[in-house]
Amino acid sequence: MTIEPIAQRIRAQLGELRAFTATPGNGVTRFPFTPEARAASEYIKARMEEIGLAVRMDNSGSVIGRLEGQVPDTVMIGSHLDSVRFGGAYDGIAGVVCGIEAVRQLIEGGGQPYYSIEVIATNDEEGSRFKSGLFTGKVLDAQLTVDDIRRYKDEDGVSVYDAMKAYGLDPDAIAANKRNDIKAFLEVHIEQGPILEAEQKDIGIVDIIVGIKRALVTVHGRADHVGT
Ligand SMILES: [Zn+2]
Repeated sequence: MTIEPIAQRIRAQLGELRAFTATPGNGVTRFPFTPEARAASEYIKARMEEIGLAVRMDNSGSVIGRLEGQVPDTVMIGSHLDSVRFGGAYDGIAGVVCGIEAVRQLIEGGGQPYYSIEVIATNDEEGSRFKSGLFTGKVLDAQLTVDDIRRYKDEDGVSVYDAMKAYGLDPDAIAANKRNDIKAFLEVHIEQGPILEAEQKDIGIVDIIVGIKRALVTVHGRADHVGT
């Protein structure tokens, strides 16, 4: 296998995806349920279709490309499509593009995998707009209620519920999308620290990871969120 054409494709796609931002010239700002998120989703969808995946948007607003295996149980590969304000061009989205490239290699190598494979670009992982985040993960695990998503609001007072509706999703079915078929989740993610560079390593494998929980609390009479 020659690595360079694969690396070139990944670089080219990340270069194009960085244009889907609300702050051109000032990093990537791609908040959930926005025109930028829609444009990046359409781009990802086209790349997934190109390699022969069956593509859909689930009710969290994530983009999913599926390769049918010998059994319906599924291995997911991917990362997040949204960004923080003025974020990096590789944060999250690199894991999506690498996932597509990995499955392209698998398809070109021939043979049907044992497990079905889905490449996923998850939505509202960062929580930058609604101060909530981990949205697709919570939807896949049916952790959210209609009350929750009516309560989470952005700084203009738009709730997740209303944003979902405007995006063409079905917020009333928020608790009806639990997935029980996911056997494993693989994520490639840019390192957000200096260690690999300092140690002159190309890649690291995570064996311990921080767990994030966010709780709804009331601070000075208004609803707010804290990370714990
Ligand atoms: Zn990230």
